[in-house]
Amino acid sequence: MIKIDQLVENLRRDGLRVTNARKQLLSALLDSKKAYTKDEILNQLKSKGYDPITLYRNLNAFDKSGILLRLKDEDGKDRYLLNPERKHYHVILCKACKQVEPIQSCTIDTLEEFARSKGFKEVSHVLELHGLCEDCS
Ligand SMILES: [Zn+2]
Ligand SMILES: [Zn+2]
Repeated sequence: MIKIDQLVENLRRDGLRVTNARKQLLSALLDSKKAYTKDEILNQLKSKGYDPITLYRNLNAFDKSGILLRLKDEDGKDRYLLNPERKHYHVILCKACKQVEPIQSCTIDTLEEFARSKGFKEVSHVLELHGLCEDCS
């Protein structure tokens, strides 16, 4: 598991400004097995003086830098997961407790190749798997 200091170091090397507020956001998301909504993250950080706009901005900055995985809930809400290694991967999201289970392989690459063979450019994909985890079923 990546440590917060290492993560901050990596982000700085990439030219991202890591303020105290951003550090707090990182630690809130780090080592989490659950994907949180903006509101849930805000609730965690409210006591540290976070307001919705700060959170919105910092989430956007992290999202842009590629260290966030954004998931869609069944009800269409965005949920965030830290992706410190910036890997391309997918997860199964538990409908009940919002715990996630990483999927080791992505089998959609062949479909992307197909799209490219049809002349599509800038091909990308999103995959959402929802279910009930062992604890919840
Ligand atoms: Zn569950
Ligand atoms: Zn994929």
